[in-house]
Amino acid sequence: MNDKDDPSVKRMADLLRQGATMLADACPQCGSPLFKVKDDIYCIKCDRRIVYANSEEEVEAEAVKTLIPELRVTLINKLKALNEVVDNETDTEALTKLANLMVLLLQALHKLENMGT
Ligand SMILES: [Zn+2]
Repeated sequence: MNDKDDPSVKRMADLLRQGATMLADACPQCGSPLFKVKDDIYCIKCDRRIVYANSEEEVEAEAVKTLIPELRVTLINKLKALNEVVDNETDTEALTKLANLMVLLLQALHKLENMGT
C-alpha cells in the first residue's frame, strides 16, 4: 500500500481542511503525527482519540510517587539477593546473565532516585 492509497492521508487532508492542526507529538501507539481538532487530539492512523488527560496522568504520577520508596526497597533487596547469587556463581555464562540483571536493577534504582527528587 503506498501513501496515495492510504485512507489516513485522505483523512489527514480532510481534518486539515476543517481547521485541525498537526502537532509535534507523535502517537504513542503508531508514531504517526497527532492532530488537534478543537479540543480533541486524534491519531488518524489508529483512528482514535488520544487522551492526554493531564488529570489522569497526574493521578498516576502521584500513585507512582507513593510507590517509589517501596520499589526502592524491593530493588535493593533484589540486588542484595543477586549479590549473594553472583558471589556463589562460577559459570561465566550464568554470571553474564546475572551481571546484566544487576545492571538493569541498578538502572531501575537510579531512575527511581531521579523520580524521587
Ligand atoms: Zn496512532
